[in-house]
Amino acid sequence: MGFEDNIRRVIPYVPGEQPQSRGTIKLNTNENPYPPSPRVKKVLEEFDADALRLYPDPAALRLVKAIADRYGLKEEEVFVGVGSDDVLAMCFLTFFNSGKPLLFPDITYSFYDVWAALFRIPYLALPLDDEFRIVPGDFRRENGGIIFPNPNAPTGVLLPLDAVREIVRNNQESIVIIDEAYIDFGGESALPLIHEYENVVVVQTFSKSRSGAGLRIGYAMSNAHLIRALNDVKYSFNSYTMNSPTIAAGVECVLDEEHFRASVERIKATRERAAAVFGQLGFHVLPSAANFLFVSHPSVSGKELFDYLKSRNIYVRWWDKARIRNYLRITIGTEEQMDALFGALKEYLWNQ
Ligand code: PMP
Repeated sequence: MGFEDNIRRVIPYVPGEQPQSRGTIKLNTNENPYPPSPRVKKVLEEFDADALRLYPDPAALRLVKAIADRYGLKEEEVFVGVGSDDVLAMCFLTFFNSGKPLLFPDITYSFYDVWAALFRIPYLALPLDDEFRIVPGDFRRENGGIIFPNPNAPTGVLLPLDAVREIVRNNQESIVIIDEAYIDFGGESALPLIHEYENVVVVQTFSKSRSGAGLRIGYAMSNAHLIRALNDVKYSFNSYTMNSPTIAAGVECVLDEEHFRASVERIKATRERAAAVFGQLGFHVLPSAANFLFVSHPSVSGKELFDYLKSRNIYVRWWDKARIRNYLRITIGTEEQMDALFGALKEYLWNQ
């Protein structure tokens, strides 16, 4: 059939499973185990369904303003989208059109190569070093843009701000996107760089540190010129991406700074304790600045542990990919969830 040749073929990104059964311990998609601010619950309960008759504000200005105020920015320096996946997809479409290869790490967020394929952007994946660190010097080559998560995913390894700055300084002819989905859990944000350089875009999300994965809110922060370019592309694609209940909930979410800080601190404390327990159980644990740990065991394969934990109704993440096949990525859950995980692991490892 003639039309078959004209269908856009893509191999889609595969998100972590969302099991619908109750009683599952879900440590596989880096969600926050604690609820969002009570202010979010209140505003959703009070939301007037009559308002759904109207289209939402296409600019989501209330949300943009709340985010801008939180980070000391102007409204023109903030772009919002339906999760950072939407924001990042818009960035790929807007900024990576040179025909030269986009650079990103070989072990990284597995959506990058999917968007590159979707938008026909050539790319080059640069190997991490032996300790799974990004090597800034490798980014000194001709490119049509750069993107990396910081901390990186699925490793959790943080690139210090000086090293991020070095990458930006050496690449002022292309756009550098820093995907800070996990930055609130221990890293220093590259946000100041958006005013030091003209080519930097910092992307963050409500899905992790702000307990709002189901809300779907992501945002980009950059200079007004690049934010305008993003908005022009967005308005050429779909004007009303953010729905009105989400905009209202998102505003309350950003305003509750105290709630945000408390939940981040709780997760960081559990992460440190969990890293120590994994160490005691003989695991190799990468240093993590995120809300997850990347671990491997010297004598039991990643796949075996993944399957075993799933049989115990504990979901973690595993990839059948070179170099990381033996690793599991484990989201930091509540103290109780982590205790259940460690109980199951001890039973398995001690009965070998
Ligand atoms: N960037 C990275 C590095 C991630 O791990 C994720 C979560 N899958 C995202 C972006 C997207 O998150 P969201 O769309 O929920 O903001």
